[in-house]
Amino acid sequence: MSHVLHRNLRATQPVIVRGEGNFLIDDKGKRYLDACGGAAVSSLGHDNAAVRAAVAAQMDQLAFAHTGLFTNTPAEALADHLIARAPEGTGEGRVMYLGSGSEAMEAALKLARQYHLERGDSARAKIIARKPSYHGNTLGALAVGGHAGRRAPFAPMLMDVEHIDAAYAYRLQREGESEADFAQRLADQLEARIVELGPETVAAFVAEPVVGASLGSQPAPVGYFKHVREICDRHGVLLIADEVMCGMGRTGSLFALEREGICADITTMAKGLGAGYQPIAAVMARESVIDAIMAGSGNLWNGHTYMSHAVATAGALAVLQEVESRDLLGAVRARGTQLETALHQRFGQHAHVGDIRGRGLFWSIELVADRASKTPFDVSRNLAGKIQRAAMEAGMICYPSQGCADGTAGDHVLLAPAFTSPPEEIEMTVEMLGQAVDGVI
Ligand code: PLP
Repeated sequence: MSHVLHRNLRATQPVIVRGEGNFLIDDKGKRYLDACGGAAVSSLGHDNAAVRAAVAAQMDQLAFAHTGLFTNTPAEALADHLIARAPEGTGEGRVMYLGSGSEAMEAALKLARQYHLERGDSARAKIIARKPSYHGNTLGALAVGGHAGRRAPFAPMLMDVEHIDAAYAYRLQREGESEADFAQRLADQLEARIVELGPETVAAFVAEPVVGASLGSQPAPVGYFKHVREICDRHGVLLIADEVMCGMGRTGSLFALEREGICADITTMAKGLGAGYQPIAAVMARESVIDAIMAGSGNLWNGHTYMSHAVATAGALAVLQEVESRDLLGAVRARGTQLETALHQRFGQHAHVGDIRGRGLFWSIELVADRASKTPFDVSRNLAGKIQRAAMEAGMICYPSQGCADGTAGDHVLLAPAFTSPPEEIEMTVEMLGQAVDGVI
């Protein structure tokens, strides 16, 4: 009997004992090709020598010193690295470190509130986010997320958050509507909601540049984020980009928002930052946000014991140095094109795959009961979960997401292979996914 409180208390899970390249190996010797990196985390596979060496070296030097009193070299170097590569407009921004994506989202929300308070805008407290979306599991992050099933048990404990439509082209773009018109219509919805609420009460708009967990891997229509930026500026609302899943190279640029040609006021990142070697997340604030605090209290109204942990930041810096020195962003784009092509070949005509979407090495398929009408499967059948189990049985790991019972999203399966994946592993992944889908549906 296990005394670990696992997510599923009834299941017996394999014990993983080793990572080798992009494979995980359990205590029975079974090998699993990790084609989703545990939800877009393991961008460098499981045995990167440079990251391991950097973590060990930092551990030998210094692990922890309270950041209320001290800074440390790797935390400073990682912040320098991120700010130097941040989207244009970040200026002399700053980075705060946390332990998980959820904590980063909490910190981002609080930072937005602090910004407005420092400027004397005390009525600005409302948050607008999108539906569906996922921003984490702690109470603030869960409230911002727009997934009915995940919110339901905790609804009485959640703060009020306004939700508008996500940029979910497959279900929301109208027949004959151009991409530009779709982008404009979605952005108009944001502006209308801000005006309806009273701009002087709105603190921030929160969105993932490429939506992850709740929609698989859904990029926004071209121009959407430019409109969003203009609207936020017009009404004094901060833009928080949640890059926890799509950031740090996953979509082919270090920050996903780079591709949209705008800069967020506050950006969160996590999974690919530590790439699974260290539990670390970050919140990056652009210069204008920092200036407001400098001109006001001069203090950050948020703190955690393990902020700026020396080993965690050393590990993350080594991850980003690997990404840069080995041109892994180029690899993401090349392997991403291969993955996209292979998915279209395998599922382009599949009776139960309604949509194939993504960017970089971040791709998903949406499952449908009927392709012509786009009718989703009954979510209680949890077909995506069954596909994951079938694939795992065969030795490949993909990431399932159950759709929303309210019909705002269908079931889908996400692939997020390591940036270091050789072409044959991409082919193998799609082939094994095909077998799992056909075996289940
Ligand atoms: N934001 C996004 C976009 C995510 O995908 C996730 C996790 O999947 C989170 C936030 C929460 O991150 P964590 O699970 O590290 O708390």
